[in-house]
Amino acid sequence: MRGWRVMVQIVVLTVVLGFVVWPRLERYFLLQAAQQNAVTQRLATDGLRAALDRYAPLPPLIAERPELVELLRNPDDAELQAQGNAALLKVAEEIAASDVYLMDLTGDAIIASNYLLETSFVGENFDFRPYFFNALEQGWGEFFARGTTSGLRGYFYGAPVTDGTDVLGVLALKFGVSAFEEGWRAAGSDIIVTDARGVIFMSTRPDWHFRAVERLTPATLAAIEQNRQYPLDRVSELDVMQAPLDGAATLMTITGTEYVATSSASIKQAGWTVTTLVPAAPARVQAMISLALLAVLGLAAILAAAYLRSRSAQQDRARRLLEKRVKERTSELRHEVEERRAAEEELRRTQTSLVQAGKLSALGQMSAALSHEFNQPLAAVKSYAENAAAFLDRGKPDQARDNVMRISRMTDRMAAISKHLRNFARRPQEAIGPVALGHVIDEALAVANVRLKADGVRVHYDPPVGEAMALGGHVRLQQVIVNLITNAVDAMAGQDRPSIHIAVKPAAGTWQVTVRDHGPGIAEETIAQMFDPFFTTKETGKGLGLGLSISFNIVRDFGGTLWGRNHPDGGAIFGVDLIAAPAIAKEAAE
Ligand code: ADP
Repeated sequence: MRGWRVMVQIVVLTVVLGFVVWPRLERYFLLQAAQQNAVTQRLATDGLRAALDRYAPLPPLIAERPELVELLRNPDDAELQAQGNAALLKVAEEIAASDVYLMDLTGDAIIASNYLLETSFVGENFDFRPYFFNALEQGWGEFFARGTTSGLRGYFYGAPVTDGTDVLGVLALKFGVSAFEEGWRAAGSDIIVTDARGVIFMSTRPDWHFRAVERLTPATLAAIEQNRQYPLDRVSELDVMQAPLDGAATLMTITGTEYVATSSASIKQAGWTVTTLVPAAPARVQAMISLALLAVLGLAAILAAAYLRSRSAQQDRARRLLEKRVKERTSELRHEVEERRAAEEELRRTQTSLVQAGKLSALGQMSAALSHEFNQPLAAVKSYAENAAAFLDRGKPDQARDNVMRISRMTDRMAAISKHLRNFARRPQEAIGPVALGHVIDEALAVANVRLKADGVRVHYDPPVGEAMALGGHVRLQQVIVNLITNAVDAMAGQDRPSIHIAVKPAAGTWQVTVRDHGPGIAEETIAQMFDPFFTTKETGKGLGLGLSISFNIVRDFGGTLWGRNHPDGGAIFGVDLIAAPAIAKEAAE
């Protein structure tokens, strides 16, 4: 599918380059070549014009010389002839003309500047030349031709020689044209000069001399023959094809070679057209190189576009794949999360029942202690009751009252134990959730306040910075803290300046509440047992030995830990480590 698209683009590119761009490119470079030759073209044309203009006024001037009239009146005077020949030679040298010569009315040359040469015109007849008969008939003649005597091409002027009333002869001047061609050749240009009939009179290529770039009609050939202008055996058509290009520029194919030709307007008297030829091949090559460059660029653009398209398609595919994987993974994760949640739920249920079972087993452990705990006061109650009865029988009501009061105190104590046990055994009603530790501690201090005041205990409390939220139950946690404070105060009983330190500190995912006292610390053997129910070192009536045990279980219910140890600087420190509530929230979210 994609390859098909690229193919179509390449075909379009080829068609556009071939049919739209190529003709324009080719034309551009061909015209550029013509442009480069414009200067050569102008110099050549101007040079020819200047020569024609320079020589034109000279023949009438020379014709005015009196010795010429003298000679024409006495054509056979040898002395006059000799003087005349010498004079014309001098003139010819002075004006750089190739030949200057004098003809009588029949067209015979009497004297000539080339009288010393083998190709001397003296004695030759030129009555067939337009410069001769036009000068006689119209007072002025001009012509260009190949010299019949010299074989050299030249431009001729003829002016009548008169004695004031009658025309006696014609003075002619010829200048050669080959010097121009040499100049052009030296400049490295191909130039042709054609006459009005399309015959090449001058050319940087000698083999083109007298060849026609247009059709040679019989009339043309007849005229050439009549004036003996060109050697007829050399006059023939040149294989030329022309195609217009732009303005003065044409595309000319001469004997198979293509040229960009720039032609001048015809040079007035002579009817000459100067045409500069530049080979078209280099311009074509330049155009082709440019086309090739464009083709390469176009192809590169097409391929780059195709590449980008395929890459973005690849990326699309990759993205879709990634999205699919993410979706799959997400659902996997969701599944995992659900499984984990279920597992946690299961664990929590197990934990709860374990905790409950743990409590029951603790209760079982307690029964031994309990029976002792209850049997002793019960035995005491029994004896106090018997005593009271005996005292009443003896009429001693005061003693009887004393015994009854002891019974009352005993029952108070037993009620307290039973209350604690009830609390302990009961499943917690209070829900576990985030509690503000600051509030809990404030309230615990308020509850313990009477006790603290009575013992004159100073409390150093560093409230938590900001909201310290931990997982627990408000009331039960408060109960734990009150218990720790009470134990601390108990430990410092009888001290002069008792003081406790309460602190709340965060630690990796937990909050830690510590209560530190300056008492004697915990005895070595006590540390192992202090969390056991009914373990106490306090004297009877002061402690039940249930505070730490119950607190331990409460904190465990919260998912935290209760610990106690001796502080290195003396006294005991008890701590409650609780799970930080935001951490819980985060964990649940994950
Ligand atoms: P009770 O306070 O009724 O004795 P607890 O379970 O609260 O029962 O404490 C058990 C024992 O742990 C105490 O009797 C005491 O020996 C020890 N203990 C508790 N807190 C402290 C403390 N702050 N300093 C020293 N010992 C302590």
